[in-house]
Amino acid sequence: MTELKKISEYKWEVPQTGNMRVPGIVYANKSMIKALEKEGALKQVANVATLPGIVRASLAMPDIHQGYGFSIGGVAAFDWETGVISPGGVGYDINCGVRLATTHLEEKDIKTKVADLVNALYKNIPCGIGSKGSVKLSVKEEKKVLEQGSKWAVKEGFGENSDVDHTEDYGCMPNADPDIVSERALERGRKQLGTLGSGNHFLEIGVVEEIYDPEVARAFRLFEGQVTLMLHSGSRGFGYQVCDDFLAFMVKHARKLDFELPDRQLSCAMIQSEEGKRYFNAMACAANYAWANRQIMMHKSREVFMRTLEISPRDLGMTLLYDVCHNIAKKETHITEGKKQVVCVHRKGATRAFPAGHETVCDAYRTVGQPIIIPGDMGTASYVLVGTEKAMEETFGSTCHGAGRVLSRKAAKKASKGRAIYRELEDKGILVRWRGRNTMAEEMPDAYKDISQVIDVVHGAGISKKVAKLRPIGVVKG
Ligand code: 5GP
Ligand code: MN
Ligand code: MN
Repeated sequence: MTELKKISEYKWEVPQTGNMRVPGIVYANKSMIKALEKEGALKQVANVATLPGIVRASLAMPDIHQGYGFSIGGVAAFDWETGVISPGGVGYDINCGVRLATTHLEEKDIKTKVADLVNALYKNIPCGIGSKGSVKLSVKEEKKVLEQGSKWAVKEGFGENSDVDHTEDYGCMPNADPDIVSERALERGRKQLGTLGSGNHFLEIGVVEEIYDPEVARAFRLFEGQVTLMLHSGSRGFGYQVCDDFLAFMVKHARKLDFELPDRQLSCAMIQSEEGKRYFNAMACAANYAWANRQIMMHKSREVFMRTLEISPRDLGMTLLYDVCHNIAKKETHITEGKKQVVCVHRKGATRAFPAGHETVCDAYRTVGQPIIIPGDMGTASYVLVGTEKAMEETFGSTCHGAGRVLSRKAAKKASKGRAIYRELEDKGILVRWRGRNTMAEEMPDAYKDISQVIDVVHGAGISKKVAKLRPIGVVKG
């Protein structure tokens, strides 16, 4: 059991012991801490703190839970010259992420059409574990996807230039090198572009229920009663294969490292080594694949809305508010002890949260800060937040990525025995269509932490600020 030291109401320290090079910092409230002390995620936070080049602290967001090597909800920055990069610090679904589109519609405009919309989305956007897409790629074209990300999708007619502007990193990571990814990854990727994936991935029609910050909400073009569309998906079999290939590669490589790993799952390479660069450049391919994937699906959803509601693009007004990634490692410049330092920030189940004025925040949001999209669960709520200066000072510009699981998939299945989850949701006015046999059980709202508590922690700690709350009304789950 790892004991924590309280720093403030929402901030706790994992004291530096043993081989830890820095302390751990966990953002959570008291009741979350009690639950956390009993599980393995805190040990993982401490383990990450032993890795070379780690800057300041090994960080954990309030949605933290145990993951492969690194906890989910973890943030760790390593010095670009002397630090490491680790596939386990990014996760299997490279650039899994969320995007939110706003519309000109109000809830009353679609009240009688929700079922039609959900059915049409389910029919037109392939979902499920091995689902194949309607976008067929040649070998040559796939490489372009891997190099260009969202830009490729828009060039091919899936969307508008403003979609690209409203995507983190403009939907394209530099350094992507398709020549270093395996044949198997390329083969899996060719068939799955434009598909949602399974279980936790979703398309969700929501309504803006409450505005907390009217000024920022105006800049984000959000208003009460507005219909929104949220999409959660990643790099599908392509990213999974890249991660799997590189984990095997790194475990072998780990024998050559001149430091001790507290856990094999933390296998890594120095960022500046050949091995480190190879992973970084392969990961960038998967990140770009994920952005193209989300871009295609959002555009198809736009068409579904227009066809189903028989309205023009102008009347629908579906505009991408923002697209964020929550499984990624990035080269960024941060200030440590008053000096600029280039670092590799690993965000695994964590979201970038850059403040107003930051050069990477697109023009539309430069004066208010970067939009942050935080899904809760299919039966409760989701939130839009905005990045803050405090996040830059404390968390390398990062915040949480969701509610985070409290029940394992197995435990959720057990807890749902004898219940018809879809009907419980229907009674709350939420219509669900799903593909996987176990999806409803594994993904039921009780499987996740209380999103409002998670949001209170990040808002209270100041590492992002609440802007709006969304209520789900129609969900498509993989
Ligand atoms: P992950 O990427 O870790 O699988 O999931 C991100 C977060 O999405 C989860 O922590 C959970 O809070 C949220 N989430 C999962 N399923 C749904 C859903 O159907 N609707 C909404 N709004 N959020 C969900
Ligand atoms: Mn994912
Ligand atoms: Mn995800």
